[in-house]
Amino acid sequence: MEIEVQLTGSPIAEKISPPRLAAHGAWLEFRGAVRDEENGEKISGLEYEAYPEMAVREIRRILELLAVRHPCLAAKVIHRVGIIPVGEAAIYVGIASRHRAEAIALLGEFMNQLKQGVPIWKRRALPVEAVVGRVTPCMPVGAHPAASGGQRTARPTLPSLDEAIAEIISRCQQLPAVRAPLAEAFGRVLRETVCAPEDLPPVDRSTRDGYAILKNDESGTFQVVDTFHAADWKPRQLKPGEAVRVATGASLPCKNLRVVMQENVERTGDKIRIVRRETSTHINLRGEDLRAGEPLLHFGARLDAGALALLATAGNVNPLVSPRLRVVHFTTGDEIVPPDQTPKPGQIRDSNSVLIRGLLQNFPCDVEQAHLPEDFERAKSEIENWKLRVENADLLLVSGGASVGEKDFTRQLLEWLGFEIVFNQINLRPGRPLIFGVNGGASVPASRLVGSLAPPNKIRVAFGLPGNPLSHFVCFHFAVAAALTRLTGGEPPKFLRGQLAEKLDDKPCPRETLWPGKLEISPDATARLHPLAWANSGNVACLASANALVRVPINVGLIGADAEVDFLPTTPIISGRAEV
Ligand code: AMP
Ligand code: MG
Repeated sequence: MEIEVQLTGSPIAEKISPPRLAAHGAWLEFRGAVRDEENGEKISGLEYEAYPEMAVREIRRILELLAVRHPCLAAKVIHRVGIIPVGEAAIYVGIASRHRAEAIALLGEFMNQLKQGVPIWKRRALPVEAVVGRVTPCMPVGAHPAASGGQRTARPTLPSLDEAIAEIISRCQQLPAVRAPLAEAFGRVLRETVCAPEDLPPVDRSTRDGYAILKNDESGTFQVVDTFHAADWKPRQLKPGEAVRVATGASLPCKNLRVVMQENVERTGDKIRIVRRETSTHINLRGEDLRAGEPLLHFGARLDAGALALLATAGNVNPLVSPRLRVVHFTTGDEIVPPDQTPKPGQIRDSNSVLIRGLLQNFPCDVEQAHLPEDFERAKSEIENWKLRVENADLLLVSGGASVGEKDFTRQLLEWLGFEIVFNQINLRPGRPLIFGVNGGASVPASRLVGSLAPPNKIRVAFGLPGNPLSHFVCFHFAVAAALTRLTGGEPPKFLRGQLAEKLDDKPCPRETLWPGKLEISPDATARLHPLAWANSGNVACLASANALVRVPINVGLIGADAEVDFLPTTPIISGRAEV
């Protein structure tokens, strides 16, 4: 697919010509204009800011991944940044495709994903009184907010949740794909599109135990001339009045048959008589599931049990998949004792080790865990024993010590191990002291990675997770999971839309909040979210029932029952259901 992406500080042209390719089918255009209301307040405009290079890269990456599923010819995306007056377009997307359905599907998914991982954000809403000229200054897009100086009033200096996710997504690269036998491929990400090597099923097969007869044969009685069990097959052209005994799954001897269920015939010796008429032919026709050459599974699919069954059916026993990840997890803190010990006063049982192990279950990996003493020098000498494993790890996690106390050495430790710290705090609750570091690897344009086997420069990723279990849970789901999906080539976690089942009563907080919730799918298929009680990130009880994180915007206190909210599902099963 031809892709053109532009970020501009100027108004988006009223008329944009379609590419030449659009002459071959549909040209779908979408313009998102700034509305005159934001969070219930009248406004005169919005100011957008971006990390331009990263945003362009991400938009391309999203389009390329989507194009695998919705083959389109060309896409043109223009996002305006700076001040955009009400009524003017903030975004323009044009998609050319052979058929309109592909363009519509791609556009819909693209707009959803744009919100998730692309570092373009609303910097502020301009009140109605603000004088907004029709001509917007060409702002220097992409300056990091912290580096832009002088304009700090409206935005926090810490990266926001979206910015943190965007950094993680852009810094982590796909690890080289490997071939794995089906028995070891569960949960891996497919790194090739697999097509049916032959029609499925390859022959016409009976779906019942019964008798095959000619489709239009109205004979009164039939002579049973042969018996086919599931494993039998030989060609035989049936004549009127003839029947073949067939078992479920048996390949049928010729064309133009129907199968009469054995429950619907009377058999006397070698003769049968049909006693009840049936409407179905009870035949699974050749190619009914899939035609030879049709895609069975697309690049990027997560291989669950059903997908593996499909690959097995097609005889694809060594698919190209993401590698099994190597993870090293260190806990820190002298107060931590193993969970089978009774803590002395001041001590606390280690719950993070088992929490991390459990959360990693969704990402096939080998996890090695150890505890580090809370003294930097001693911790370093302990790590010497782990050097090789740390160096070979794709992901390093350190629990605790991520904050600013005298004994919090996680940042120092990661730097000592050679990691560049990308951020060490974010504007989020819980989970503010989250450290993200990367080690090695030049940035490879995402466009070169899609479908490519060439290993990008190896890059290792580390997170310092704030010690409290609830912070672990939250940071894992939006940050660690985003990194893991990028390393494996899957789709990063997505915020979905749902409805609050009950009010969420909070004090306004200057940080965005990911509030633990319990997601249920109502009978009308709406995702309904029950906010769970938690007072601080040390609370563990809510973890046992949480299967979603509800996104509470900055400075929003109360959100009423039935209000629409964004949420992040925390179990893949729920995520699948919620997307239905
Ligand atoms: P820290 O991030 O090291 O300041 O730890 C914050 C809080 O999390 C402290 O109350 C720690 O006791 C607690 N904590 C740290 N590590 C663990 C762990 N492995 N299991 C349970 N709680 C922990
Ligand atoms: Mg600690």
